Amino acid sequence: MKTHRPFVALTLALCLTGLLAAQLALAAPPTTGEVPTRDQIEDKYKWDLTDIYADREAWEKDFKRMQGIAESFPKKYKGKLTNSPDILYGALQDSAQVGVEFGKIMVYAHQTLHEDGNVPTSQEMAKRAIGLATKLNEATSWMEPEILSIPEETLRSWITSSPKLALYEHHLDNIIRGKAHILDARGEELLAMTGQMGAAANEAYTSLCDVDLPFPTIKDENGNDVELSETRHYMFRTYPDRRVRKDSFMGTMSAYMPFKNTIAALLAGSIHGDVFTTKARHFDATLEAALFGPNIPVSVYDNLVKTINKNLPLLHRYAKLRKKMLGVDELHIYDLYCPMVPKPQEEQYTYEQAKDMVLTGLEPLGEEYLTAVRKAFENRWIDVYETKNKRSGAYSWGTYLVHPYMLLNFNGTFDYVGTLAHEMGHAMHSYFTFLNRPPVYGSYATFVAEVASTTNEIVMQEYWLQRAKTKEEKLFLLDQFLDSIRQTVFRQTMFAEFERAMHQAAEAGEALTAERLGKMYMNTMQKYYGPTLVMDPEAEVYGLRISHFFRAFYVYQYATSYSAAATLAVGILDEKPGALENYLGFLKAGSSEYPIDTLKKAGVDMTTPKPIEDCMKRFETLLDRFEETLES
Ligand SMILES: [Zn+2]
Repeated sequence: MKTHRPFVALTLALCLTGLLAAQLALAAPPTTGEVPTRDQIEDKYKWDLTDIYADREAWEKDFKRMQGIAESFPKKYKGKLTNSPDILYGALQDSAQVGVEFGKIMVYAHQTLHEDGNVPTSQEMAKRAIGLATKLNEATSWMEPEILSIPEETLRSWITSSPKLALYEHHLDNIIRGKAHILDARGEELLAMTGQMGAAANEAYTSLCDVDLPFPTIKDENGNDVELSETRHYMFRTYPDRRVRKDSFMGTMSAYMPFKNTIAALLAGSIHGDVFTTKARHFDATLEAALFGPNIPVSVYDNLVKTINKNLPLLHRYAKLRKKMLGVDELHIYDLYCPMVPKPQEEQYTYEQAKDMVLTGLEPLGEEYLTAVRKAFENRWIDVYETKNKRSGAYSWGTYLVHPYMLLNFNGTFDYVGTLAHEMGHAMHSYFTFLNRPPVYGSYATFVAEVASTTNEIVMQEYWLQRAKTKEEKLFLLDQFLDSIRQTVFRQTMFAEFERAMHQAAEAGEALTAERLGKMYMNTMQKYYGPTLVMDPEAEVYGLRISHFFRAFYVYQYATSYSAAATLAVGILDEKPGALENYLGFLKAGSSEYPIDTLKKAGVDMTTPKPIEDCMKRFETLLDRFEETLES
């Protein structure tokens, strides 16, 4: 848990599935020809940053003004918040406003840099924006401790008696509930001093895996020598050629094997760091501490793991189907990632076609939603094509006082139409939040950040299936959709279960040796996939190398987000009364409530098995449809 919420986020808000997709990424299609420069692209395919500032001069002018605010803000308010509800209100109002005004500076600088990362003036602008963020964070970091020095009763009575301050009730409640876990000045100082020590295990692990680890060379499908790496392993494991998949798996594991004790010790070090902070901050368990920030009840985590365990027979059925489809005599880990159905002749779509497909596919979301999507398409909120030195990947970002933006590197594939729908989900979530909430609640929590994007993906799935002309196309799509639930829901829950077991063992004072962790992981994986999966002894290091485990209790959100989205999307597709209205309400809620409450209002209670069960039902329906289509 952080002692205070930073005033402005320093890092780019990349999407969770974006990160996940990057890990799972297939080989990028070879790009042929020259990459165009920005001036070769028509304006209508480039985002328009003049919506934020007319030019760099205007940015400079605003930058100076904000520097002044960083100086004047503490002078105006520091030491005075305890005086009266009016002063407290003024400070909260001003700091929220400064936050959104700074958003313009940050977004303009970074998005300019993302257009062409090689321009020194843009690099400098981005660096200066981050420097200013640090200054503004310093200028406001005293606020939370000062608010907490007001007795809770006084603060609550101020909120009830001052109609203006009532707007900040939820914001203040969020600060107040942290009080029990904040230490005295010396305690906080000591904890801050442990920061660098705590990061050492993760840093050592990253250096070992990214730099020092010697990967072997294997022969690719054409018989050429290729030196392995994690990225190449992610690519090779999707190959139809089983020999390549197997060599890649064995080769990658053989790289980690000699270091298994080192990696286990580093992982244990990271977990012991979490245990230390947990105890220091008076939490009962590391899980409770990790979920405290977004105020997620531990029951949500337990419920996810329990409900998925109940539904494991579905994954066992899937494993059998996979074995049959691949025609292998034994199903191994290296058979889990290649498509069960080969990709039919890849169609290429123009951006105009992709836009139409997204607009048609998202029709179930209704006119209010579609009007906003058209607005994004027609007003240059999107930077469409790859250009020289442009940032890779795709994201949605934007700023409260203007509107959301989207960066793409559109390549015309089926996958990319999905990416467009996904990023549009993020953009619409931001758009409706910006429009309907005051600055203080104008963003949303990580816990719900992937819900809108995934809802779009699931709504689009039905459109794709209706569009499919041949049996092969249909099977290919069903395979893809099944795989997204398998990887996002089953696999991430398996990680979550393993992670929890590791932390519990550490909390009980038990030793986390390589042998023990390796066995724990293999047993969990065997339980998930069932008897069809033949476990290779090399899998001992398979789980140990997953870098997410250095960031405790993070991955479960992939599974909860997907399940919430499945419930919402299926409700909308089935035209369940109120489903669409509730969904739009969710998009408009921002951070005005705790994320679990926002979802509850939208009809998804994550403390109950229902949303996870809904998602499992969808998996089962897709399995049924796959088998029916196969037999047809
Ligand atoms: Zn995303």
